[in-house]
Amino acid sequence: HHDLAQVDIYEKLPVPFGLVRFGVAPDHPEVKNVINTFTHTARSDRCAYYGNVTVGRDVTVGELQQAYHAVVLSYGAEGSRVLGIPGENLSGVYSARAFVGWYNGLPENQDLKPDLSCETALILGHGNVALDIARILLSPLDFLRKTDITDCSLAALACSKVKRVWLAGRRGPLQVAFTIKELREMINLPGTQPVLNPADFTGLENAVKDAPRPRKRLTELMIKTALEKPRERAAMVQAAVPRQWGLKFQRSPQEVLPTADGTRVRGVRLALTRLEGSGDSAKAVPTGEVEELECGLVLSSIGYQSLPLDPAVPFDTQHGVIPNSSGRVKGAPGLYCSGWVKRGPVGVIVSTMNDSFDTAQSVLEDLQGGVLDVSVPRGGFGAVGSILRSRGVRPVSFSDWERIDAAEVARGKAAGKPREKIVDLQEMLQLLDH
Ligand code: NAP
Repeated sequence: HHDLAQVDIYEKLPVPFGLVRFGVAPDHPEVKNVINTFTHTARSDRCAYYGNVTVGRDVTVGELQQAYHAVVLSYGAEGSRVLGIPGENLSGVYSARAFVGWYNGLPENQDLKPDLSCETALILGHGNVALDIARILLSPLDFLRKTDITDCSLAALACSKVKRVWLAGRRGPLQVAFTIKELREMINLPGTQPVLNPADFTGLENAVKDAPRPRKRLTELMIKTALEKPRERAAMVQAAVPRQWGLKFQRSPQEVLPTADGTRVRGVRLALTRLEGSGDSAKAVPTGEVEELECGLVLSSIGYQSLPLDPAVPFDTQHGVIPNSSGRVKGAPGLYCSGWVKRGPVGVIVSTMNDSFDTAQSVLEDLQGGVLDVSVPRGGFGAVGSILRSRGVRPVSFSDWERIDAAEVARGKAAGKPREKIVDLQEMLQLLDH
């Protein structure tokens, strides 16, 4: 919407697309089609991509502000919310973010090597990420083989002993954060059986009568699944000994329990809760009763968290966002933010896209309103490139990425996959130097 604007994109990794590449589940390729739109934008003459540049380390936000008329921070949520309970750091406990990064080829998570030698896994949280992980743990390997899941995680999943996955939420069925499409996918996963307790849903059919349609349909699907007779379901299950998954409600994690030798997880103590209030705002309050659930693998899927990137940028540590108004960073003219670092780690790609349009609108208004002084040209990448060179940083261009992309697609082709991701940063850079 501005005929002359030039946009440079800086990215920490050599490869672009962030959560679309490293967050979206490998068995959801259609969600990744948005990459085509991003690629179209990146190929514009007025847009340039500089990967392998860590803002806040290789170049400061202040230096970027010197070089550009406007700087937009849209670096998402790199951290994980923590439970803050004893035992959280025991071996066998992983954050959802690290686990997802592991199977999706995020370089920093390649050493995770999760121990999948137990039969029962517990996922804490009732969001879509929790369902993604449950599905990856229980999916037939033949499904995953055709996806862009990394070879290394496929090999680990092939040896996995996990056959039972519980998903525990601190609130009730009316407060689950996952959506119906993802739940339906889980219910229909071949070779698996859902285990839902009908008693958890007593009276809920009436309670959701007037609820918004998505919540009503989601609850009805859970009720239908819970009431389905095991025999009917068994007939639909293909494998002789099915893998199982189930939802546990009103259970808040209190402590991760260690094995007798204290080296790893053997279970989780859950505090039973009652709900105070109703609907989305209902609060989980401990009843005083507890329950222990035996499991050898715990995945904490209670949400992502944005982190501060540069001490010069205001940051609201309580809410994990950059304080802003319509994307304008408070007290920092010329600095903007967008996406999860602006609104918090919720929403799908389209919500993040709409949110970025709102921030772009603010930039355009500030240009038109004279808040941004564009009378004097700025150095742009000419200036930043010199800084990076002096610090020994080698930026990766979009055409460089297209070479990495082609190499990944070629490697995948040999194995019948859409791509085999390169998971090592040095290997990506070496490929470009040849
Ligand atoms: P989320 O949707 O916010 O879910 C987080 C879950 O963790 C909630 O059930 C929440 O329960 C629970 N939780 C938070 N703090 C807790 C605590 N201290 N103790 C126990 N439970 C706690 O987050 P997410 O699953 O990470 O997903 C992030 C966003 O990405 C979401 O908007 C999601 O829809 C989206 N996403 C979409 C897809 C897809 O479309 N297929 C896939 C993945 C992610 P309370 O409700 O009680 O707080």
